[in-house]
Amino acid sequence: MGDQLLGFGKIIFGRFKRDKHTSVPSFLPYCCVFYVVPLLFAANTLSLRRSRTAICSHLFPNCFQMTENAPVLSHRHGDLTVEGYSRAAVQSYWRIPEFKLGFDLGAHPWDFMGTPTWLISHAHLDHIAGIPLHVSRRRLMKMAPPRLVMPAYMIKPIRNMLSSFESLDRGRMPCELIGLTAGEEFELSRELVLRTFRTTHTVTSLGYVIYDRRKKLKKEYLELSGEQIRDLRESGTDVTEEVRVPMVAYTGDTSPRGLDDNPEFYNAKILITEMTFVAPDHRRHLIHKNGHMHLDDFVQRKSEFKNELIIAGHLSTRYSRSQAIKYVQKELPGMLDGRLKVWI
Ligand SMILES: [Zn+2]
Ligand SMILES: [Zn+2]
Repeated sequence: MGDQLLGFGKIIFGRFKRDKHTSVPSFLPYCCVFYVVPLLFAANTLSLRRSRTAICSHLFPNCFQMTENAPVLSHRHGDLTVEGYSRAAVQSYWRIPEFKLGFDLGAHPWDFMGTPTWLISHAHLDHIAGIPLHVSRRRLMKMAPPRLVMPAYMIKPIRNMLSSFESLDRGRMPCELIGLTAGEEFELSRELVLRTFRTTHTVTSLGYVIYDRRKKLKKEYLELSGEQIRDLRESGTDVTEEVRVPMVAYTGDTSPRGLDDNPEFYNAKILITEMTFVAPDHRRHLIHKNGHMHLDDFVQRKSEFKNELIIAGHLSTRYSRSQAIKYVQKELPGMLDGRLKVWI
């Protein structure tokens, strides 16, 4: 054991001594032993959990400690991942990590704090109760204030709610609040733009479609050589046009009219929507009146869905997982050609 320690010491210190004037990488073991490890150890032994997490997030910005505080399901589709969980009257939260954005914050899984932009569909508590947690946790972890996009009527009450928490919690609630109405566009980044759509629920609600936008060479110039295109550019001609692809759509809570009035939801590559009721004896006219959808609404519209992936969530708590899946598989045995996933 003693010999092993001696050997280990020689590897680290011997190498550092030999290479210290020339080699940068050989400095790394020294740095780990004398700087990083003691710092983490000291933070740990002093039970400074906040400092330890802050040190970790400073040294490894994409890797802070995970805490399993809320369920999250996950599905990979092409280059994108959908993560989230949604049950009616309980909690709804979804995110697309690659886009650095999420939809609704009905609760707040600990590691969702890394997502800086959230699009809120409506003001029911099972969709917004996690907002103060998100804002406050990002401040505690010294992250940039989040950006929260929501129906315009929510801005004032949400601001008041956050300022009430500032008094109660004695901590600031820094965030950017953006209010939108149906039919508006908002630039999320150079590549991503969102459009809002009016959905039909018991309170004013918005659905969102996220577009990937790229500049592509106009069709009439496709045959030209690189030199000819360069000449055109230099003469001031715009040789490109913007192409938009609807990548992800989120309806939030809605009756089927929310889909029918906005066919763009059917065109997005990924559609995240709600299927609150599935049992045959649940009356559809009441469900629609309450701004929700039934499995039968999906059956009726099965030829409308052009999406590559459809995730249906927000199932009522009156169903167990196996019951819900059984009802859906009975009515849609092919699960819309394997594109439909029921998240429960
Ligand atoms: Zn809901
Ligand atoms: Zn609702």
